[in-house]
Amino acid sequence: MMAVSIAIVGRPNVGKSTLFNRLVGRKLAIVDDRPGVTRDRREGDAKLGSLHFKVIDTAGLEVADDASLAGRMRAQTEAAIAECDLILFMFDARAGVTPADEHFAEVARRSGKPVIAVANKTESRTGFQGAYEAYALGLGDPVPISAEHGEGMADLAEAIVAIAPATGYEREEEVAETDAVVSGEEGEEEAIDLGAGVIRPLRIAIIGRPNAGKSTLVNALIGQDRMLTGPEAGITRDTISVDWTWRDKRIKLFDTAGMRKKARIEDKLEKLSVSDGLRAVRFAEVVVLLLDSATPFEKQDLQIADLVEREGRAVVIGLNKWDLVEDRHKALASAREMFERLLPQLRGAPVVTLSGLSEQGLDRLMEAAFRAFTTWNRRVPTARLNRWLGGVLEHHPPPAVSGRRIKIRYMTQVKTRPPHFAIFGNQLDALPDSFQRYLVNGLRETFDMPGVPIRLSLRSPK
Ligand code: GDP
Ligand code: GDP
Repeated sequence: MMAVSIAIVGRPNVGKSTLFNRLVGRKLAIVDDRPGVTRDRREGDAKLGSLHFKVIDTAGLEVADDASLAGRMRAQTEAAIAECDLILFMFDARAGVTPADEHFAEVARRSGKPVIAVANKTESRTGFQGAYEAYALGLGDPVPISAEHGEGMADLAEAIVAIAPATGYEREEEVAETDAVVSGEEGEEEAIDLGAGVIRPLRIAIIGRPNAGKSTLVNALIGQDRMLTGPEAGITRDTISVDWTWRDKRIKLFDTAGMRKKARIEDKLEKLSVSDGLRAVRFAEVVVLLLDSATPFEKQDLQIADLVEREGRAVVIGLNKWDLVEDRHKALASAREMFERLLPQLRGAPVVTLSGLSEQGLDRLMEAAFRAFTTWNRRVPTARLNRWLGGVLEHHPPPAVSGRRIKIRYMTQVKTRPPHFAIFGNQLDALPDSFQRYLVNGLRETFDMPGVPIRLSLRSPK
């Protein structure tokens, strides 16, 4: 498969070569403070976390003065843009958006290729205001990074993957902020080429207490009696992931039944089922928390739910063995009440009643899983976010805490999967938890994000 090729484009001195060096892990490019130092266009094999791609540095585009920029667009930059699959448009967030930046943004946009705006020089959270200005360029949410200090590399990797999905991209391996660049051969086998346009299967894990009905459900879903079920089964099997398609959509399902049975034999049920659950949760994008309708929300269920929330996965609650329930109305009301009371951190997560045994509710379960996945990937445009925030603050300004005036300036979504928002302002470390919860609940309701964990970061200048 051909590697995806990515061009770094921007006016001189924004830090293109610095990023290039970081990505290829070699001091290939010459970094110079003087704008307009003549350099050639360079290409290199880039590695960013578990991603591999070809990177093209267009720093060779030099201009003496911005006024004549348009006329002096170098052929090599145009060639790079024509050749690449994806453009990183870089600007200097500390300098803000200049006319030269606008020009380059326009060139990038006109190419019709996907563009990621990259706000450089935002180390230690300086320059975020400049990053914010860049929304006006119409290139979407800028990814704040510091090419020099290696900050923001995980977010950059994520933005790239969102545009060029990779086959088998390993999510468990978060890209560490500081060691985003691993030069040379190490870890080569984990790195995966970014293939163009390959849609990854949705990863689902079905987890729950022993006897909740996980194996039965998996069997029903994939329509094969591949896994043995039943309380008497004492067969040791390994953890299995199964590929199957549902309505033409690819799914990879993680099944933990084998480990559970092993655990039973070894009589270490409680302990093993937690680490078992953890593996499944880390594997998954969407977690189906399967409960037995007769005894939902028991201690072990809550522990597992907590794990799902901490790991930031999308969640669907499955009320299984619904075929055995006599008063369904009452059972549902009671389950909802327990859910509200015992799992406030997963508020709004879909609850699906089903029976793995009689194969009822399976389509509703899958529909809910795909919907939860969509929500988990949701990106709220910054303009909408700040319009909403303005209204909220007008009606409900943050309290003064021991004489300190807390000022919230703006907000942006820095990540998806799960949605992660950052608030910028002054004295934010004093912002009470209750106010943060108020904002999170407001975000959840206004932007329709039920049942996914929402993260909030507070960023004040030092
Ligand atoms: P290019 O002309 O776009 O290729 O920019 P260079 O990579 O040559 O960088 C221009 C200047 O910006 C150099 O002095 C770099 O050291 C500096 N620079 C690059 N990245 C960063 C960064 O993240 N933070 C800061 N403060 N300076 C940076
Ligand atoms: P696991 O331990 O979570 O994998 O649970 P199993 O799939 O092995 O199921 C445990 C027991 O519950 C078995 O006896 C199943 O037949 C039974 N069971 C599973 N799903 C259902 C269901 O939807 N309805 C009923 N009535 N029984 C079920």
